[in-house]
Amino acid sequence: MSEMEGPAFQRIPPWVKAKLSPKAIETIQKVHDWVETECIPAEPIMKAQLAEQGKRWTTQPLMHELRQKAKAQGLFNLFLPNHFKESPGLTNLEYACCAEIMGRVYWAQQTMNCHAPETGNIELLAKYCTPEQKKKWLQPLLDGTASSAYSMTEPDVASSDATQIGCRITREGNEYVINGRKLYGNCIWNSENKFYILMGCSDPENPNKWRRHSTVIVPTDTPGITQVRNLTIMGFDHAPEGHGEYIYKNVRIPVENIILGEGRAFEIAQGRLGPGRIHHCMRLIGQCERAYELALIRSIDTRKTPRGKLISAFDSNIERIAQMRLEIDAARLVVLNAADTMDIHGNKAGRYAIAQSKILVPIMATRVIDECMQMYGGQGLTQHTPLPEMWTYARFVRVADGPDAAHRHQVGRDEIKTAEGFKKRNVEYQRKYKELAKKYGKEYETFWGVSADV
Ligand SMILES: Cc1cc2nc3c(=O)[nH]c(=O)nc-3n(C[C@H](O)[C@H](O)[C@H](O)COP(=O)(O)OP(=O)(O)OC[C@H]3O[C@@H](n4cnc5c(N)ncnc54)[C@H](O)[C@@H]3O)c2cc1C
Repeated sequence: MSEMEGPAFQRIPPWVKAKLSPKAIETIQKVHDWVETECIPAEPIMKAQLAEQGKRWTTQPLMHELRQKAKAQGLFNLFLPNHFKESPGLTNLEYACCAEIMGRVYWAQQTMNCHAPETGNIELLAKYCTPEQKKKWLQPLLDGTASSAYSMTEPDVASSDATQIGCRITREGNEYVINGRKLYGNCIWNSENKFYILMGCSDPENPNKWRRHSTVIVPTDTPGITQVRNLTIMGFDHAPEGHGEYIYKNVRIPVENIILGEGRAFEIAQGRLGPGRIHHCMRLIGQCERAYELALIRSIDTRKTPRGKLISAFDSNIERIAQMRLEIDAARLVVLNAADTMDIHGNKAGRYAIAQSKILVPIMATRVIDECMQMYGGQGLTQHTPLPEMWTYARFVRVADGPDAAHRHQVGRDEIKTAEGFKKRNVEYQRKYKELAKKYGKEYETFWGVSADV
């Protein structure tokens, strides 16, 4: 384990280290070096290039440069689990270690072609497309020569219940015609964005509500798509990719752009419920570590000493620092466990662990980053630090890819199903207690409302 002693491995728990392949060890080190030397020092340049006149929705030249370089170093598409033939060979658990490091810089994921929604889209295309479709739509994403977006959410329905999605997909001859309104999905204003993977309603009268929807590929240059506006997230436009609001008016695509076939959208959506669901959580651990490090630096800043003391000398801050450390480390275990569960038992069996991660990690991250802001004082809420953007990222992960409330609802329902089993066990305890009471001549009473006679 000697090669796992540097900072790249400092936070990886022993049980995870024991499972890392030599390739993973090498890759984690490379990702660490990449983020430390190519990404963190370049953060202000990336912002400055975006601020140039008329370049708000243009991917920065530096991003293109870094993507080329990362690809040449074999750091592309690391997220794709090793059971795909297109995978570079990491398990979900191994990738989680890389993703945490990527998370230290919001856009580092993109330099390595590991960014959302691309990751989920690549997995979906790799899983469900025909060889011809893969060649046309998947390969450019894997090569990094095109970018894509995912378009499901709509403004007029509860999109967390996707059976309500209303955007119409109607077949006319050899074409599908799309009409509706969509929210989210990367901005069409960025010319790197080449197509949407869109979920719509193709058979509204089907008595089986799970067979009413289809998933299609819509090239962004198809006539009839209008981006109404950029949706800001807590005031951030997230340029140059951003999120949009769209109107689809008589948008025509060839029938071969359907994925898997008509009425199969829910099968596809099920397949999308895998690792892509927790990539944000993996990276949020890295965001928290970075925010925490900034707070630690602030705590020993000798220029700022209220009442003549360093911030770190106040008991409240010592406790705050300890609490943050504990919470980040606990959240990491939750994420790593979800990744490992998917590796061992598959995505479906990993449902609970995925939900656990989706529910607990973003809330932890908002809490930790909020505390870091508090330690920073006024500057912590301004562009003097990346903390407001980090907090916003953590906050939006509570909703993106499905609200945490929906995951809690599912977990709660599954848990309630276990109640009967516990009840049976308690009846058994009671029955034995009844026998013991008789044997020892004690009065028998029912306890916890459970009777041996139930
Ligand atoms: C930054 C960001 C990026 C996004 N990117 C994309 C994207 O690329 N593509 C895309 O299609 N969408 C995207 N979304 C949209 C996101 O997936 C939806 O907002 C989400 O699925 C919720 O749907 P909704 O907004 O219609 O809310 P609703 O479905 O109306 O839900 C509203 C609220 O109701 C409650 N609720 C819902 N279901 C339950 C339940 N089962 N139990 C208890 N309470 C419940 C929750 O509090 C929930 O937040 C993005 C969202 C954000 C914030």
